[in-house]
Amino acid sequence: MTKATDAFERLQFAMFTTDPACKDDDRFISDVVPAATLAPICRTCPVYDLCAAYGELDRPKAGIWAGKRYKTNTKKGN
Ligand code: SF4
Repeated sequence: MTKATDAFERLQFAMFTTDPACKDDDRFISDVVPAATLAPICRTCPVYDLCAAYGELDRPKAGIWAGKRYKTNTKKGN
């Protein structure tokens, strides 16, 4: 298991009991909404730290993760 997979599982597990601030908000999967517009919502999110940890490790190509959009998928820490 990679560190990114491990981080994603921790995030998923937390979401079983805690709704993220982006729940049901399609802007977080949009390719056109600027990350800076959504970052303030992320800063209120109860799973922010887990989301940020996963995002930094996996650098997902799509969506907003802890207020960031990753333009490249150059992973680190695997
Ligand atoms: S920190 Fe992650 S889970 Fe929380 S609102 Fe932002 S993108 Fe969604």
